[in-house]
Amino acid sequence: MEVKQTESTILNYGILSSISWNSNDWADHPSEEDLKTSKYDYVKDHGHMHESLNFGHDKFPVEDDGYYIGYTPMFNRPPDVNNSQNVQIVFFTSSDYKNANRKTIIGFYGFPIFGQWFTRNSKHELYNKYDSGNIKAFPEDIIYFQNPVVINNDIAQIHNLLPKGKKISQQGFNYLNSDNVFNIIKLALSLNQSNTKLRYFVDKFPLLEMLTKEEFDLQDFISIIADTTADTIRDIEKLEKKMKGQQPEIKQRISNFIERGAISKKIKKINNYRCSVCEALGTLTNSFIKENDEIYIETHHVEPVSKVKMGVLSMTNLMTVCANHHRQLHYGKVELIENSEKHFVFIIDGKKIIIDKLGIT
Ligand SMILES: [Zn+2]
Ligand SMILES: [Zn+2]
Repeated sequence: MEVKQTESTILNYGILSSISWNSNDWADHPSEEDLKTSKYDYVKDHGHMHESLNFGHDKFPVEDDGYYIGYTPMFNRPPDVNNSQNVQIVFFTSSDYKNANRKTIIGFYGFPIFGQWFTRNSKHELYNKYDSGNIKAFPEDIIYFQNPVVINNDIAQIHNLLPKGKKISQQGFNYLNSDNVFNIIKLALSLNQSNTKLRYFVDKFPLLEMLTKEEFDLQDFISIIADTTADTIRDIEKLEKKMKGQQPEIKQRISNFIERGAISKKIKKINNYRCSVCEALGTLTNSFIKENDEIYIETHHVEPVSKVKMGVLSMTNLMTVCANHHRQLHYGKVELIENSEKHFVFIIDGKKIIIDKLGIT
């Protein structure tokens, strides 16, 4: 069921760009054969592939600003600033010479920065050789598909993976509209169902929130939130009532919806954009400054929304956390051992921490 282009389709929402094949999953040097068979003259001539570490983001250090640097030869002539202002995601394709040159989409950089040359200043042995690139993103927004999405011009048209009538560019990159992005991610999700990082990314990616459950019915969600915003306490009470008896995935969607609403913004402000976990551990909030000069911070529901305890959507069940601790709370070794009127007590990685509840009504 691929989504058709509609009036709400956003043009140039993503980019599809190619890189040279790397037999070590783009997390180490390419093989001799990779270098020899590359269709890029630069790679053949110099025996060097800047994109060698594109998906080594879990292995190699980020730069001081928190970004991880990657590369695509197609950006050596950078995308036009005006045409690329909506771009939220850059997918990489590569052709596997050992597999009849099958072209696949191997992963992406979400919320990327590009348009200039970036130098790696962090220290790593391999950074002496792979010292720069032309795109960067935060490692949590860089996703590698263990099971890549096969693409060719026929598949692209059938599944609406490229704008209508467009062919995969041989000399440059392709712009994708939001429907194309949606469809590519949908295919990637169905092929990589246990990739929690991909699911987590999709949950926070504009227009894609609905994709993480295959059987999830968009209509249910829309009918629940239709006349409601998540901007006031009354709204949230309303949502809590409507949520009763819904499927867990719907509850999760509603919780994500609230985590992005105005209440959530208010909470972030009240807690002064600090991560409660970082604070309880006695460290500075591990985050970055957004374009609007606010510190980037997320909100988390302590009691999972799927439990539908009363008050699960209320502010006293929310805490503000940095992106890293937010992921740890969901996927790490964390135990909530006390949930009293005044505070939460967690055991995180064997350490006991006490977090005061936000005193607001
Ligand atoms: Zn933190
Ligand atoms: Zn959460």
